[in-house]
Amino acid sequence: MDEQFEKTENSMSIYYTVNKMLIALHMALLVFFVVMRVYVMVAFCAAGIVVYIFSYRLLDNQMNKHYYKITYYEIWICAAGSACIMGPEYGFHLALIAMLLPVALAVNTENLGNDTRFFKCSFTKKEGVFLVAATIIVYVMMKLGTYHDSFFGRHIILHNSVLQNVVFLANTTFIIIYIFYYLSSYAVYINKSEEFLRQKADYDELTGLYNRNRIRFILEHNYAAAKEGNNPFGVAIMDIDDFKKINDGYGHNAGDFVLKRFAGIVDGIVRKCEGQIVAGRWGGEEFLILYYGENKEDFYMLLEYIRMKIYEAQFLYDRNRLSVSVTIGMAAFAKDMSLDEIINNADMKLYEGKKSGKNKVM
Ligand code: GH3
Ligand code: MG
Ligand code: MG
Repeated sequence: MDEQFEKTENSMSIYYTVNKMLIALHMALLVFFVVMRVYVMVAFCAAGIVVYIFSYRLLDNQMNKHYYKITYYEIWICAAGSACIMGPEYGFHLALIAMLLPVALAVNTENLGNDTRFFKCSFTKKEGVFLVAATIIVYVMMKLGTYHDSFFGRHIILHNSVLQNVVFLANTTFIIIYIFYYLSSYAVYINKSEEFLRQKADYDELTGLYNRNRIRFILEHNYAAAKEGNNPFGVAIMDIDDFKKINDGYGHNAGDFVLKRFAGIVDGIVRKCEGQIVAGRWGGEEFLILYYGENKEDFYMLLEYIRMKIYEAQFLYDRNRLSVSVTIGMAAFAKDMSLDEIINNADMKLYEGKKSGKNKVM
């Protein structure tokens, strides 16, 4: 079974379970309201059960957004009615505050794609304003009912203090867990999407190395520090030799394969050097190395090691052994040069290397 389908089926089964639980909850509430002789709410609960039974049709047709909205408003009406009629002692009114959470976090998200949205359902700004105003109005009505017992026919209710406390605690427990679960899931979602965006913003998709923006940012940071008198550094530009021939001879995919394998080897060396160098993709088949050090001889030896490792590595693609080599131009930080001049120097050295036979460090 393909993963996508499995995922959809799994998330759909959650909806079915939720629907069953809602029917059970409404049945329990219906019995509660019969006992309390609150016949308006008995009617509400009965209507709610009918709605959820019909909602199976929505789920069968994968109309999740409609299901979510209907469920939301059904619960809202039920909580608002219970709060007005029963008064605040039962805690139903608190559910209305908790229910503002999904609205606040999903207002104006209708233009976002489903996969970039925490909630699969969105609320318009108008709906948000309406729900905030309606919540306040329900609170006012609930309090009016406290002053005028007959306002919602509260005087005929058979109040029982034990039942009152049990329902209050049940409602608040449920609401506390709901708020905590909701906000913590949202925090996980935000952290995950931030991580995803950082990956996208900093790394090159094909090679997994830093992209040009990121490596440029690191360079600027180091250049500024070096200007202040600390940590001089070196820069090298590496360009794969005759890369066009690989693309032309074996196809673009072979070229991509070489870039990935090349970057993998460079990344392995970067890791082995434990913070002495960083590497990034500068463009096409060009890569940039930043060396944290002053000793030009050491830098040269390191680049020579990279060049040799690439030359010795096997690039096997579709049973073809591709010969891959790299030419590298290096330059060192100098106080009187701009960052672009330093990079240009490395570029010029690279050009010299290309002109004088390639596969060398200059
Ligand atoms: P030289 O030895 O002088 O560097 O020659 P070269 O063929 O490597 O250099 P040239 O600049 O002529 O060719 C680079 C080619 O790299 C051109 C471009 O189509 C290809 N290229 C750039 N980015 C990618 C990529 O992401 N994937 C693949 N497959 N090819 C790419
Ligand atoms: Mg090039
Ligand atoms: Mg090249």
